[in-house]
Amino acid sequence: MWIKNIFIYYCILYFLFPLFIVFRFSSLETNSSRLVEFETLLSPRKPKGGKWIGQKLVKKSLPILILAGHADSQGNLGAGTLGESVAVNNAKPMDSQMSDELFWNLKLSKLIVQIGKRRGLNISFYDPPVRYIKDPNNLNTNWTVGSKHSLKGGYALEIHFDSYGKYGAGSGLIPPVSKNLNTVDESIGKTFGKFPFLFRGGLGASRRQIRILEVGKLEGYLEKNLRDSNISQKTLNLLANNIVKSIIFGMNEKAVFNPLPDRGNIFLPAIYL
Ligand SMILES: [Zn+2]
Repeated sequence: MWIKNIFIYYCILYFLFPLFIVFRFSSLETNSSRLVEFETLLSPRKPKGGKWIGQKLVKKSLPILILAGHADSQGNLGAGTLGESVAVNNAKPMDSQMSDELFWNLKLSKLIVQIGKRRGLNISFYDPPVRYIKDPNNLNTNWTVGSKHSLKGGYALEIHFDSYGKYGAGSGLIPPVSKNLNTVDESIGKTFGKFPFLFRGGLGASRRQIRILEVGKLEGYLEKNLRDSNISQKTLNLLANNIVKSIIFGMNEKAVFNPLPDRGNIFLPAIYL
């Protein structure tokens, strides 16, 4: 009997326990290696040619309005990108009622507002009542609501994911057509990249003083991480946190021209959070 017991202990000690350790740590490694860093998520992020510098100072009470790109233009050419998974790899759309881009634009926009409020920002989200509005000057479109907000001195930021492959340019801030770019523009531009003035001839949003943030191309790591239910929320949190941090950083005029945010603005000192 005791020989049998010793044999069992021996098995546990020399076979099952090491097996457990190997399994435990290899599965951890698999999970963590799939959540890539912020910088990798946004690649390719080469310079986009934006030479502008946002210098106008803003108040900490600056009213910020977040808009989800294409929220009022589903079912036509302006619906936003389907993303690489759907368009190239035949994956099912995240929601059959909308483009994958809008699906992620909505999720990220709401999260930015949620985190921004928690960090003390004067921030809100506008969602049009219907998903298709033919007339861009209709009172309920993103453009109309965003441009009114900007005219009153607020900051309107429309969230987008760029197209995959050769159809997209990558992440970056598309500035409004204005001489008054501010330190929040500067900070977001330093984190995500700067598109030139009059990008694509001065987009409808830019002419209406709405900033466009192309978060990244809907392909590769970024799209895989968003679509993977194990890490989707973490990926959205990572993106939203970096956007909110950039906004807050931009409100600190002393900090925004400090060389630190050039490094990607990821690990900001706690004073700015
Ligand atoms: Zn878009």
